[in-house]
Amino acid sequence: MHETHTTYTLIDGRRVAAEIKKEITVRVQQRKAEGKKIPHLAIILVGDDGASQTYVDHKVKACKEVGFHYTLMRFADTITEERLLKHIDQVNTDPDVDGFIVQLPLPAHLSVENITEHIRPEKDVDGFTNRNFGSIVSKNPLLLPATPNGVMELLKRYNITTEGKHCVVVGASRLVGAPLSMMLAEHGRATVTVCHKYTRNLPEFTRQADILIVAVGKPGLITGDMVKEGAVVIDVGTTRVEGPQYKNGYTLKGDVDFVSVAPRCSMITPVPGGVGPMTIASLLLNTLRATELRHA
Ligand code: NAP
Repeated sequence: MHETHTTYTLIDGRRVAAEIKKEITVRVQQRKAEGKKIPHLAIILVGDDGASQTYVDHKVKACKEVGFHYTLMRFADTITEERLLKHIDQVNTDPDVDGFIVQLPLPAHLSVENITEHIRPEKDVDGFTNRNFGSIVSKNPLLLPATPNGVMELLKRYNITTEGKHCVVVGASRLVGAPLSMMLAEHGRATVTVCHKYTRNLPEFTRQADILIVAVGKPGLITGDMVKEGAVVIDVGTTRVEGPQYKNGYTLKGDVDFVSVAPRCSMITPVPGGVGPMTIASLLLNTLRATELRHA
């Protein structure tokens, strides 16, 4: 029989993101008062994927909240890679734009690698380019990958120390799992285990985690029996699940089966309201940083 932790702390990403947005608003107001440049974020959206549209709406709303300027550029999903790269060139050289993102996913005929590598690293506020990925191990990072940095910031603001802890990261993607595991080892001084699709006996690894971070995109992948008593669990997974029972016709589900996992944890993030808002806060912080680097 396992003992269970019935009282856990819910890690409130919305509250922390709101706190960060307030701090950014103050810095924007200071810049304004000093006659300095106001940060300007450009967003490129290709096609009309409903989830992407929602994410972009949240990003636009966040820019408005903190007083950033923003530009939304929309293109049909038939756009050629050549034309899209030309638009990226324009944004790269537009002196008024401090940071920009190309919302993913992209239609299958466009190469995510070609597109993201075309973004000037100093304006790459998602931190997707190889230059910014590599910057994780630099003494002088440029713009850190936004979602992983949002997770690190969330841990920090909840005083969850990572030094010497065993962090198990499930999911090893180029955008989330891989950079996050590097940041936990490099910046967080943690012992890190990375699990992926080819990991044999996943529960054997997840059960060892002091801090378990899951970024896969498979609702219900992590169940209570896979989690150590008292662990901290961070659920990055965000899958849109459709159904008539949900308001708006869909709901967002994490990778963690909250009902069975939460009672075993000391702390856990909900989905939605955990990592999602932190990604946006991180994007805003990167845009402010990009502006400060170009216009001190
Ligand atoms: P991705 O590119 O599809 O990567 C998923 C990773 O999980 C890959 O490393 C994959 O391995 C691995 N994987 C697949 N099945 C697995 C299994 N059964 N056990 C262990 N690992 C497995 O997705 P992503 O971009 O990293 O995103 C992951 C999730 O996070 C998605 O739900 C996404 O929507 C969400 N996300 C949320 C935010 C946010 O702000 N909250 C931001 C970004 C992403 P292979 O590479 O070998 O296939």
